[in-house]
Amino acid sequence: MKSSYDIIIAGGGLAGLTAAILLGKDYDVLLIDPDTYPRHKLCGEYLSKEVLPLFDQLGINIQALTDVSISKLHLTLNSNFSQKTSLPLGAVGVSRFCLDKALYDKVIVKGCHKKDKVVNVIKDSTGFKVVTKQDEFTANQVLIATGKRSLLDKSLDREFIKFKTPWLAIKRHYNYEMDKNEVGLHHFDGGYAGISMVENDTVNLCYLANNKEFSEYKNVQDFERKVLSKNSYLESFFEKASPLWENPLSISQISFQKKSAVVNDCLAVGDAAGLIHPLCGNGMAMAIHSAFIASKFLKRRLEKQLSQEEMLQGYTREWEGTFGSRLYAGKKLQSLLLQPSINKFAFKIIKHVPKVLPTIIKHTHGQSVTYSL
Ligand SMILES: Cc1cc2nc3c(=O)[nH]c(=O)nc-3n(C[C@H](O)[C@H](O)[C@H](O)COP(=O)(O)OP(=O)(O)OC[C@H]3O[C@@H](n4cnc5c(N)ncnc54)[C@H](O)[C@@H]3O)c2cc1C
Repeated sequence: MKSSYDIIIAGGGLAGLTAAILLGKDYDVLLIDPDTYPRHKLCGEYLSKEVLPLFDQLGINIQALTDVSISKLHLTLNSNFSQKTSLPLGAVGVSRFCLDKALYDKVIVKGCHKKDKVVNVIKDSTGFKVVTKQDEFTANQVLIATGKRSLLDKSLDREFIKFKTPWLAIKRHYNYEMDKNEVGLHHFDGGYAGISMVENDTVNLCYLANNKEFSEYKNVQDFERKVLSKNSYLESFFEKASPLWENPLSISQISFQKKSAVVNDCLAVGDAAGLIHPLCGNGMAMAIHSAFIASKFLKRRLEKQLSQEEMLQGYTREWEGTFGSRLYAGKKLQSLLLQPSINKFAFKIIKHVPKVLPTIIKHTHGQSVTYSL
């Protein structure tokens, strides 16, 4: 294995894999991720259709991966409020097991994946030194694609990692009969759950909960029975659905703090640059789209069309211009849904003015996007 690369990508989720495909065509790229693919990943698996043209550009046929097209939202509240609406753009339902593998297969054609963890990235006068658990490499440029929270964020002394957060999330796949074209967003005390289908007639339940509420219960099952099931839609789901895995996936310390799209003179993509509230269903699209934007700037830098400073500033501007308002709308939406004092009022408005909900959803999504590098 070589020790020096044009670009090293730390993290092989959606953002890192996308960038590896785009940049691997013209440059020496090393992608470092500890995972073995395919693997399940905690996510609602609702992929906004805005990025489908980007998959065409990557040479991936999404229709060959899944036949689930989601065009309706069913929103419910604890006290049995229920509202259905059509989704302005809609989504496809595809598991991360399947989607990340499709991207990974394109990456390994280039043979550039190292199964390892990046522990530090050090800038020096000639470029970057990348320290992993097992090795050390040098690179002209490093792309940070390590997701929501990583050991690397600590080494890089990122601000958001210094704060504890109350959010945890749980996901499991089930056998369950439901409308294939609908995503359910079901509120419960301190959180909300998304239910939608992915390929192979499988249903994904993924929810965000507050650790304070959760810690009062013995285990996940107890929490689901006593808290989630107060919402009659979720109660009915747990009665009828059969889990396909013995244990659910879970993560904690999910941070929605503002992050920066540039870290230690490196570009950051996907959740490493900013995490949108999951109820927006736009994080995967943002991860893929941001990898296209970063790849364009990295290419221009490696072709010496931009100075390092121009690349960092140009990327930050485009990232903020593309995603800034979505993150803001997502934050507002989450507080509407989760603050008991205002959510009943907000739901009343949604019920009586049906256009409100699709308008809010539009603000958390982008338009259908194509991108020239
Ligand atoms: C509860 C919940 C539900 C969600 N539901 C949806 C949804 O329905 N639709 C949607 O669009 N978005 C959803 N999202 C958001 C979506 O999952 C993320 O936005 C998306 O996964 C971001 O992709 P990424 O590539 O940035 O990060 P990830 O997919 O998290 O990938 C990061 C990768 O980095 C690797 N890594 C971490 N640290 C290191 C290191 N030190 N060295 C090397 N590799 C490292 C990890 O192994 C991982 O493979 C949800 C998020 C949550 C929390």
